[in-house]
Amino acid sequence: MTADQSGQRCPHCDERLYYFQSPCPACEHRVGWESRCVRCGATVKDPREHCPNCDLPQPGWRAIEHALSTTGETIRVAKDALDRPMKAGYYRHIGSVKGQWADYRRPLKGGGEIHVRSFGDHYEVHLDSVGALDSPGKHAVWYAPRVAADGGIQVIETVTKALSYSNQVVNRILGKSENTGSEKP
Ligand SMILES: [Zn+2]
Ligand SMILES: [Zn+2]
Repeated sequence: MTADQSGQRCPHCDERLYYFQSPCPACEHRVGWESRCVRCGATVKDPREHCPNCDLPQPGWRAIEHALSTTGETIRVAKDALDRPMKAGYYRHIGSVKGQWADYRRPLKGGGEIHVRSFGDHYEVHLDSVGALDSPGKHAVWYAPRVAADGGIQVIETVTKALSYSNQVVNRILGKSENTGSEKP
């Protein structure tokens, strides 16, 4: 899979699509998707199946992560094309402005982490350079300005509280999370 923007256009009607989305919601044509195994380069037809060549599990998720680490842009991917994040090595992370939605995170070996937000029909996946699991304070500072643009100062305080609360929850569930950047099974 490449992160080429043209890869996200319907070839029939030019509607914008999520990665792996089919059929096209505008023209209802089926859209074929292929990704490349990030380990061996083989073509993977179904991103949920192991790589047919080298048996890499979850090649779709791994391809998205690889694309993110090269482009840094948010990737939107059709939900039904992939296994649920927790099957692909992600941790559930409950925490938001109002504590309403569940996010998923997966720390990277080199620091930073992949952050998945779940919506009705798609996932939004982006790369956080500061891990919320390990550094909730830094994360709040890092991301508060974007939130502030929507809601003002009070929102910043709410976010900071929500993040520090969610960190307590995470600590309780996962134990201490001081091993920054290490991959857990
Ligand atoms: Zn279309
Ligand atoms: Zn492979």
